[in-house]
Amino acid sequence: MYIIFLGAPGAGKGTQAAAVAQKLRSAYIASGDLFRQALEQGTDLGIQARAYMEKGQLVPDEITTRMVLEKIAAPEGEAGAILDGFPRNLEQAEALDKALAGKNRGIDKVVYIKVPEKERQRRLGERWVCRHCQAVYSAKKSPPGRNGKCDRCGGELYQRPDDTAETVQKRLEVYFAQTAPLIDYYTRKGRLLEVDGEGSVDEVTGRIEAALHEGAFVTG
Ligand code: ADP
Ligand code: ZN
Repeated sequence: MYIIFLGAPGAGKGTQAAAVAQKLRSAYIASGDLFRQALEQGTDLGIQARAYMEKGQLVPDEITTRMVLEKIAAPEGEAGAILDGFPRNLEQAEALDKALAGKNRGIDKVVYIKVPEKERQRRLGERWVCRHCQAVYSAKKSPPGRNGKCDRCGGELYQRPDDTAETVQKRLEVYFAQTAPLIDYYTRKGRLLEVDGEGSVDEVTGRIEAALHEGAFVTG
């Protein structure tokens, strides 16, 4: 199965996509993580992506789409994958459909996580990320374990430079202008599942699993 996760910045999309991928033993492809890893490693891809990420803008489609489609074509992505952060605009969604159609496959389900604006803003302000494994921690709700180190792998925790107020604002604008139209796009294809993203991480994961199981697609 190919499953896409959609949601505004701060909706918990990344946390949930990773959790569900683990439960389903599915490949997990997160475009933002791939860019951040490339940046840490100082590769050309990372250097190219950096300026856009710092400003909260989208990395150009040619770069992003090629990167993600390569992952989908790789052996790990052949059987299916959970996609987090991709597609982020209609051009990317169409390129993805085309690539999957070429393999007689398609997007099976789209999980859209809905969280009210106030809660999203609050979550973004207190987010910490592991440099090594990209796990996400909330400073208030689940304080990072051993002296600022990652509970999962011991990696150093840091606050993403694009979580500053100004960049968050830009990311929100980009989301509503370019990514939110995908909600309609996948509703029209009969693939959208809407999930309430408020509450604890586990509660939301449970709701997503139920939604994937029941397949109650939103009708447009
Ligand atoms: P968020 O946590 O807001 O969902 P991500 O970690 O997914 O952010 O992405 C961080 C940054 O990486 C984005 O602001 C953007 O610059 C870049 N990026 C990630 N995915 C894409 C994509 N599909 N298309 C273009 N740029 C992307
Ligand atoms: Zn870690």
